Amino acid sequence: MIPIYLDNQATTPLAPEVFDAMLPWLKDNFGNPHSPHVMGRQAAAAVEVAREQVAALLPQNGRVIFTGSATEAINLAFGAARTRHGRDQIAVIDTEHAAVRDTALWYRTQGFETTLLPVDADGLIVLEALEACLGEKAALVGAMLVNNEIGTIQPVEQIAAMAHEAGALMLCDAVQGFGRIDLPQQADLIALSGHKIYGPKGIGALWLRDGIDLPPLIHGGGQEQGVRSGTLSPALCAGLGAAAKLCADRRQADMDHIVDLSQRARSLFGEWSVNGSLDQRYAGNLNIRRDGLDVARLMSDVRGVAFSAGSACASGSGRPSHVLAALGLKPAQIKSSIRLGFGRYNDIDDVEQAAHLINQAAEKQLS
Ligand code: PLP
Repeated sequence: MIPIYLDNQATTPLAPEVFDAMLPWLKDNFGNPHSPHVMGRQAAAAVEVAREQVAALLPQNGRVIFTGSATEAINLAFGAARTRHGRDQIAVIDTEHAAVRDTALWYRTQGFETTLLPVDADGLIVLEALEACLGEKAALVGAMLVNNEIGTIQPVEQIAAMAHEAGALMLCDAVQGFGRIDLPQQADLIALSGHKIYGPKGIGALWLRDGIDLPPLIHGGGQEQGVRSGTLSPALCAGLGAAAKLCADRRQADMDHIVDLSQRARSLFGEWSVNGSLDQRYAGNLNIRRDGLDVARLMSDVRGVAFSAGSACASGSGRPSHVLAALGLKPAQIKSSIRLGFGRYNDIDDVEQAAHLINQAAEKQLS
């Protein structure tokens, strides 16, 4: 049985157009993009087309570096903090994905002063706390565009402006918003991932504003402008490029569709409370709770729907969600929360059937 897939924040299915764009580079065109002969040059050209397709969605005064994931892009980006001489403070939002939060905390073990910035009950950054922590030693501020667990959209443009005023760089983890909503034009570093935009797994990218120094993350043959050595996969690059282009071409249609799905879901889950801001929210995310529910049990009862309890990472590790905790929810409320993620390839029928199955199991459990 194939379940109804409502976990589009964990990953998305590969778009058929993306599969078609990747196929030639997996079959006959197997040249190494770093080889000087004709097969290598063809592969290198495909990589550069893909780079332009990704760059077309990003601010124009910077460059794109391909990586193996957004997590790698974020780790690469943090290196910029090490080039800010005399500055050793890092501030990130407490509700960041582990890729940012745990990296920032690792920098603490390396002598940096890392601050986790609080959020309000809606999951939005407390800007006064950012203002208060930004001093003359501020090196890097990290803020996500869209939260992966609760969908809240942070005021990233304002955060970037505040970071700049203090002389710090701003890193935006745009993984859950890239290709779907506006990016912060003032950010210095932007990380994105292929598999969240109907592209392949195993590829991400870092956009870097011109003039910013970045120490290498991976040493070796000097590929990717000397900061990320290793042979690129033309197939993965072509897939990411095609996925980005498709997102750009379909942006309004995708958004209208997702808003329709979300509105239907909100009406079908009327008995549940929504976690996170209602208006500053990406419509493809619905994180809801029903007091008294044991979500672990609910998930095993509703096998016909692929959905998530908290974030995929948090539920995989068994750790309670740090995002829901930061909102001030009690452990019992966190344990009664689920995340539904709608995407391009869902339809209203998916939402209606899933709501029926989840609500039926929840009623049974609570009765
Ligand atoms: N940042 C956010 C907000 C995410 O949702 C994810 C993936 O769940 C990541 C970073 C990590 O992306 P990747 O899987 O490409 O490393």
